[in-house]
Amino acid sequence: MSEDFAAPVLGEDGTSVIGEFGQHAHDAGGRIPSDSQSRPAFIGIDIGGTKIEGVVIDESGRLITSMRHESDHGDTAVTEQIVTMIATLHAHIAALGLTLAGIGIGIPGTIDSETGEVSNAVNLGIAGFNLQSRIAQSIPGVPIRIENDVNAAALGAWTVVHMHDGGKGLQMAFLNFGTGLACGIVDDGHVYHGATGVAGEIGHIPIEAHGYLCKCGQRGCLETVASGSGVARLWPTNGGYALPELMDAARRGDMTAQEKLSTVIQGMTTAIMIIALSIDPQKIVIGGGLAKTGQPLIDAIKADLRERARASSFIESLKLPQRLMRAPMNTPIGAIGAAAVAIKRDKISNMSVNSSTQKG
Ligand SMILES: [Zn+2]
Repeated sequence: MSEDFAAPVLGEDGTSVIGEFGQHAHDAGGRIPSDSQSRPAFIGIDIGGTKIEGVVIDESGRLITSMRHESDHGDTAVTEQIVTMIATLHAHIAALGLTLAGIGIGIPGTIDSETGEVSNAVNLGIAGFNLQSRIAQSIPGVPIRIENDVNAAALGAWTVVHMHDGGKGLQMAFLNFGTGLACGIVDDGHVYHGATGVAGEIGHIPIEAHGYLCKCGQRGCLETVASGSGVARLWPTNGGYALPELMDAARRGDMTAQEKLSTVIQGMTTAIMIIALSIDPQKIVIGGGLAKTGQPLIDAIKADLRERARASSFIESLKLPQRLMRAPMNTPIGAIGAAAVAIKRDKISNMSVNSSTQKG
């Protein structure tokens, strides 16, 4: 293993590194600073239905290295994959002369962040198991924290944005337009869970009494239109990306497409309004798979927000378009956030932490 931060890491299993960052480390000419011997490093792992990403960050949140795999399914396979990735990243940390001080894991499903119990991780084929104790067996003595994936991504976005603007006390809401719709709330570097862990589950706010049936049992939930699964139902494609295809069709003058796109965009702006009026964060970050549609989506959302502002001086005063930003692309914010959870929890280990979060 090289001692140069910019050197690529290749796991024994052929895992490739997708990015090497840590510009500040390069201030020392790419060499390890001599005072790095006891510096703590944190591993973050983000597991999704299709990929697993791992990172190492330092205690200020700077990304040191990252890697990515396709994700397996089932609790045994997923656990083995996580353990292998941790071993690879741990070896990298040791080679850099750093000390592994904590591990955070972001995973979809219902999480008990006290016990590390994971349940209902449907996309990973996991009904329920204790992820924290399974990982702890392979790497004893290192604090391990488990967090819901959307909350982890929210903290990751907060960490990245915070580091760039140097702001203090930044309140941020991370709107995940993924397969489902949920929001992660970060206040001054801490994830807000609420009393029972459902804070930010805005995808299951019913907005249309006679709307589509939602997987939660209600009708007309926000998630049935303003999410990847919602768009796929409104605009079925042959394996393509539904939202870009829907936007293309609408742009070409297809009136059905224009109507359906309007339903999707208004669902998204309704989600933004709910967040703005209930949490009032400084920044609202648009993330998740649909955010990869890029600037045309952000432009469409801003146009609808301006339309709403034209009808209401109150809404205009909220200056919502100015608060929006797209999640950092090509940055593993889910894994960075998972590692940041390990840092935060490490620092507030004497405080009680809420449990039970599920976000889709
Ligand atoms: Zn629902």
